[in-house]
This record gives sequence, structure tokens and C-alpha cells, in this order.
Amino acid sequence: MVYVIGHTSPDLDSVVAAISYAQLKNKISSSQQHQPAVAGEINKETGYALDRFGFSAPEKLDQASEQELILVDHNEFSQAVSGVEEAEIQEVLDHHKVNFQYGSPITFRSLPWGASCTIIAEEYESQGVELDAGLAGLMLSAILVDTVITKSPTCTEKDKEVIEKLARIAGIEDWQQFGMELFKVRSSVQDSSASEIIQGDFKEFETSLGMIGIGQVETVDVSEFDDRQEELLQELENMRQQQGYHTAVLFITDIIKEGSRFLVATSDQEKAEEALGAQLEGGVVYLDGIISRKKQVAPKFTSTFNE
Ligand code: MN
Ligand code: MN
Repeated sequence: MVYVIGHTSPDLDSVVAAISYAQLKNKISSSQQHQPAVAGEINKETGYALDRFGFSAPEKLDQASEQELILVDHNEFSQAVSGVEEAEIQEVLDHHKVNFQYGSPITFRSLPWGASCTIIAEEYESQGVELDAGLAGLMLSAILVDTVITKSPTCTEKDKEVIEKLARIAGIEDWQQFGMELFKVRSSVQDSSASEIIQGDFKEFETSLGMIGIGQVETVDVSEFDDRQEELLQELENMRQQQGYHTAVLFITDIIKEGSRFLVATSDQEKAEEALGAQLEGGVVYLDGIISRKKQVAPKFTSTFNE
């Protein structure tokens, strides 16, 4: 049994990549059974998309040591399921910056596209395996979320091409409209705690000054978070102190205005401001045009903090 698994704080792309890649593997190779798994609790839009297209959530794998794994949608061990150091990794399929070392030769597939599911859709195509409507709809959802409905600077021509194709197979006429639906589900925060909002899509980056944690929420209306701002800042500060982060960040991205409000708890405000290229006021600043953690925010923080 080989587990196909995405990163901790699983997002839609990592969950759907596990499901769709395990399914493809099972169709093209009969020698081993592939099982999708998740490395944490699934988030709201993931639950919504799974329901909508008739899938159930993959099994949660708490400990991966001694297991055979295919890693999807991540390659850094700091973002992987616990026990990954003692697991046998067979393959990696990802679209993030590469920070990976392994003691034996494996298949490592990394493409600078907007979603892991875009790479997997291309794999189906090149292996000549047809996608059914449900799986196409699920993969479409993942690509729309990861590329912020094609608005993210990480979105490529390939992603747009695959979105069109999957929407056709899934019978979804207006994929922009469908994407907005997903983001409305994603950003509905009324029933979430501050910690759930921050942890919903949270990544850690090791730097020479210390660990940085960066969470992101995408919304169609940033003002939804106005009432929660103090509480969120307090929670970031708690996380920083209790979990030993040098800096803990939540940025709330307005996908209509295409900018983000940053909430920052840090042990070195000057350094954080240098990374942001802006002054914080009470730990907060709005930056126009910044919407991607992967392409914009994380590289600025890691380069500034590794100087
Ligand atoms: Mn992801
Ligand atoms: Mn992804």
C-alpha cells in the first residue's frame, strides 16, 4: 500500500491531488495499491467541494514512519506528515519551490504551474486516461482556489487551458461564477475561531533568524474580518510566544481588489517591515497588488530573514 498525501493544514489542491493522483496510479499500475490520505483536518471549501462532487474525505494519516509515500503539493519536510523522515518516499509531484533531499533516486516531478491538480490533469491526458465529470469538477475546484480564479500571479496559460477543459468535462458553464462560490464558502468566518482562521491555510518557513509562520485567507470582502482583527492579532502573538515563531503573519487577501491586509506578530518589527516593504501600524498594513504567498510574500520574508 502506497499513501498519496499532501501537506499539513491541507488545502483543496493538496487533498484533490492526493485523490486524483492515487486514482490515476491505480489505473495505470496494477502492481501496487495507492490510497489517498490527508495530513490534517480538511478545511471548509474542501468539505464543500468533496460533497458537491460526491467524494468522501480521504483517510487521515497521523504517522507516516515505515510507510510508502507519494508526496503531492509539497516537497519540504517541514510541511509534511509527521514521521516523513522515516518513511519511504517513492515519488514527489509538486508546484512549489524545491527544498528536498533524498538518499535514493526517485521520480521528482515539479512544474511551475498554478496548482498540483493542473500537473495531474496533464498526467491523465498524457497517460490517455479519461476523467469523469465528478473528478474533473473536483480538480477544477482545486485549480480555481489555488490560482484565485486565475487572478494569482502563479496562474499560467497551462492552468487556464486546463480550467477550460475541466469545466467542459464537469459541465460547469461559468467557472468564474463557480470559483466565487468556492471563495464565499472559504471565507465564511462567522463560525470559526481565530486559531481556525489562521491555521486553515498556514505554512512554516525555516530561516536563519528563526521560524516564520504565514497564514492566508482569501475573501471577496476584507471588511468581513474587521470585527475579528484584534482577536486575530492576539492569536498570532500567542502562537508566536507559545510555538516559538520569530514572526507569525496572517494576510487577508481581497480577491476582487487584488490586495491583502497583513496582520503581523513579530519579535523584530523592523525586520518584518523590511520584508513587507511597508510600515506596520498596530501590527497591520494593507498592500495593494500582493495576493500570493508563494510568489510574493514567502520569498520576501525568507530572503530578508536569511540575509
Ligand atoms: Mn497546497
Ligand atoms: Mn497547490
